[in-house]
Amino acid sequence: MQQYLLTEDQKGYIQLVKDFFTKEVLPIRAEYDEEEKIPMATIHKALDIGLHILDIPEEYGGAGLDFLTYVMLIEEMCKVDDAFTSIINAGSIACKVVELGGTQEQKEMFYDKVANGAFVGMCITEANAGSDVSAIATTAVRDGEEYVLNGMKLFVSNGSIADYFIVFASTDKRKGSKGISAFIVEGDRPGISRGKREKKLGVHCGDTCVVTFDNVRIPAGNLLGNENEGFKLTMQTLDRGRVKVAAMAIGHAQGALDYAVQYAKERDQFGQPICKFQGIQFMLADMEAAVESARQMVYHAASLIDNQMPCSRAASIAKLVATDNCMKVCTDAVQILGGYGLTREYPVERYFRNAKTYQIVEGTNQIQRMVIGRDLCR
Ligand SMILES: Cc1cc2nc3c(=O)[nH]c(=O)nc-3n(C[C@H](O)[C@H](O)[C@H](O)COP(=O)(O)OP(=O)(O)OC[C@H]3O[C@@H](n4cnc5c(N)ncnc54)[C@H](O)[C@@H]3O)c2cc1C
Repeated sequence: MQQYLLTEDQKGYIQLVKDFFTKEVLPIRAEYDEEEKIPMATIHKALDIGLHILDIPEEYGGAGLDFLTYVMLIEEMCKVDDAFTSIINAGSIACKVVELGGTQEQKEMFYDKVANGAFVGMCITEANAGSDVSAIATTAVRDGEEYVLNGMKLFVSNGSIADYFIVFASTDKRKGSKGISAFIVEGDRPGISRGKREKKLGVHCGDTCVVTFDNVRIPAGNLLGNENEGFKLTMQTLDRGRVKVAAMAIGHAQGALDYAVQYAKERDQFGQPICKFQGIQFMLADMEAAVESARQMVYHAASLIDNQMPCSRAASIAKLVATDNCMKVCTDAVQILGGYGLTREYPVERYFRNAKTYQIVEGTNQIQRMVIGRDLCR
């Protein structure tokens, strides 16, 4: 990233992230991945230096960074470990929902909790509502001064450790997507149960689980925005979420590429380092081009968001290209390490497994193509 003109502030934050991840995360990343454990003590150290509130407005206790700087930092974190990054930053989009839909009182309460280390889970996906968010079947029925929630949410990131959930539920079945509302739900309310953490291909320490709401009563004041405006709130945060995932993917891909370059310089075959072979150099060149071109798209989309300009197509292009390129770069990193690339002794095996996640989350890449195609044919 050195080739970008960074402000002194940006350089300072990047150094802070680099120092923390090199000192605290790098030495233990293989261990907690293997054990599929959340490295809670290290997560708390990250929270202590505010790595979870970088994009929260200053007035609510955050660092108040612009979105471009924020994604640069996400990228820097993911060079070392995307799974750890996903835990400490899972609340970022939830905060955006509250910022957009919440009352002043809700914002102050929620941000204060997040700034003080509360974990938040976003509850959108259900068994029959994956790519099609409008099919949400969880219900929220008004009963006097309360709502009663019933339903089951899947793949909730930070689900087993969440202190708060942002839950999307139907308040008017007849209206489909126009009948969905968003709620803040405290994690200790009676009727909430959390399933076992999913065992996944990658992002092993990432905490993903089923959360069930069985006659969960919440105050009517926990509604975010107006009734039936929840779908609009998710749509308004989608672009941000997609660009953030794209930034995770370029950081992740850069980490795999850096390792492959270092290995190619050190590994000798036929009496010379394998990086002297044109076949290897061409692979590395293609990997560098894939990461750098995606980076430009991510920074462009982030700048559009900072300038409040329309960016849905740019966000989808950034997400599509960055995550597809990440998968390709991580696959080629394994190839460059040969047989060693397949073993858990070397980090590229983990980079390869984790890379698949980003083609699926925050709208699969088929959905991104749909968004781009529809926009072109509008
Ligand atoms: C690690 C991880 C973390 C997650 N975190 C969260 C979270 O915190 N909160 C949350 O609510 N959800 C979360 N999710 C869920 C995630 O958002 C969904 O998995 C994703 O939206 C896809 O939904 P699905 O898995 O039901 O796939 P489906 O929607 O069933 O899709 C299956 C396949 O069909 C394709 N497809 C679907 N519709 C179309 C179409 N119209 N045209 C072409 N192809 C189509 C898809 O691209 C995919 O290839 C997480 C998932 C994972 C894996």
